[in-house]
Amino acid sequence: MFMDIRIDIERLRRDLEELGRIGRDGRGGVSRPSFSPADFEARAWLRKKIEEAGLCYRQDGAGNQFGRLECAGKTVMAGSHIDTVPNGGMFDGAVGVLAALEAARRLAEEKVALTRAVEVAAFTDEEGNLVGDFLGSRAFMGLLDENEVRNGRTSFGLPFQDVLKKTGFTVESILAAHKDRPDLEAYLELHIEQGPVLEDEAVPIGIVERISGKHYRQCAFIGESGHAGTTPLELRHDAFLGLADLALRATQLVATKHYGSVLTIGKAVLHPGSFSVIPGRADFTLEFRSVSAESMAAIEREVFALAEDIAATRGLSFISRIVDKTTPVTVAPRLTSLIEEECRALGYPSMKITSGAGHDAQILAGACASGMIFIPSPDGISHAPGESVSWDDLEKGANVLLRTILRLAT
Ligand SMILES: [Zn+2]
Repeated sequence: MFMDIRIDIERLRRDLEELGRIGRDGRGGVSRPSFSPADFEARAWLRKKIEEAGLCYRQDGAGNQFGRLECAGKTVMAGSHIDTVPNGGMFDGAVGVLAALEAARRLAEEKVALTRAVEVAAFTDEEGNLVGDFLGSRAFMGLLDENEVRNGRTSFGLPFQDVLKKTGFTVESILAAHKDRPDLEAYLELHIEQGPVLEDEAVPIGIVERISGKHYRQCAFIGESGHAGTTPLELRHDAFLGLADLALRATQLVATKHYGSVLTIGKAVLHPGSFSVIPGRADFTLEFRSVSAESMAAIEREVFALAEDIAATRGLSFISRIVDKTTPVTVAPRLTSLIEEECRALGYPSMKITSGAGHDAQILAGACASGMIFIPSPDGISHAPGESVSWDDLEKGANVLLRTILRLAT
C-alpha cells in the first residue's frame, strides 16, 4: 500500500519557477504562445524533465508532448498546457502539467505497481493563439476543422501555414495526431481557478462539476451613414443604436431567463467612426457561456431572433458568423466522488465548483471521464503578470491529483 505517498512541493516549485523564467517579457509577465521561440525553449525544457523523471517521452503530430509510465491496459492521463497568452502569468496551465509530472515522478520513485499506464500531457495552444482554442487537444481528439487548419490565420495575423513552416509540424501531421491517442481510462487536470470563488470561501480545493460551453460570433449591424447634423433622427438607420439596443436587451434576456449564464460583447467597432457621421456599420463580437446545453441552445435561438427583430425595427440588416463553439461538460460523478474522497482522506477542505473558462479537460471529455481540480487564484487574477498561487494550496492540489491518479491507476 502507498496510501501515504505525497508530492515534493519544493521540487514542484523549482520546476514551476524554472519554466516561468522561459518567455519572460520585460513587462513582468510570461509571453509564451505556442510555436513561438519561447515555446520551443519551454518544450525542450519539458522534454528534458520528462526524460530525467524516467518517463517515456513522445510527441504527436500536433506538438502535444507526453511522458508515459508504461503499463498494459488503459491510460490514466493528467496534464494541461504550457503555452500562455501574450503577457500572461506563470501558473495557468503550467501548474497542471508540472503537478502531473511530479505525480508521475513520485509513482516512479516509489515503484508503485500500476494496473494502468499513467501519462503526463502538455497540449499545444490551449490559449488559442494559433487557430481557434484547443488546437492540441482538438487534434488529439480528431475534432479539428480541416478548413480552419489549412486556411486559418493566427491571432497575430499570419497565415497559420506560414507559422507551421518553421516548426516541423504540418497540416497533415496535425490532422493525423489523433491516430496516436492511447485508449484512455480518465483525464485529470489541476488548474488555477481564474476566478474569486475559492479564495472568497477560503477553501483550497475546488472539485469541478461542470465546465461551461461557449459560443463566439463575429456580428454586424449594417445601416446607413449620413450627416449627423442634417439627417433627422426619424430618418436614420444608425447601426450603433442597433448594437446598443441588442447589448442591453440580450443581457437582460440572459439575466432573467437563463440565470447563471453570461453574455458579453467584448469588442465593438463603428464605421466610419468619427464626429458628424452616423455609424453606417457596427462590427462586434458576441459571446455567451453556460453550463447547461439547453440554455446554450435557447440563448442562441433567442438572442439571434432578438437581433433580427431589432434590425427589422430599425431598418438595419444583421449578419453574423460563428467563430467558435464548445459544448458544456458535466464531469463524471465517479470522478468527482473519487476526488472528494481523496480530499477527505488528506484532511483538505473542498467544494464543488463550476468552471466558467474553457479547458483541455472539456475536449478530452469526448474520449473518457474527464475531471478538474482547482486551486485558488489570489485576487482572481489570471492571464496577467500578477497571476499567482499559494504554494501551500498548490501542494494540496497536487497531492489530491497524485492520489486520484493512484486510485485510478492501481
Ligand atoms: Zn489554462
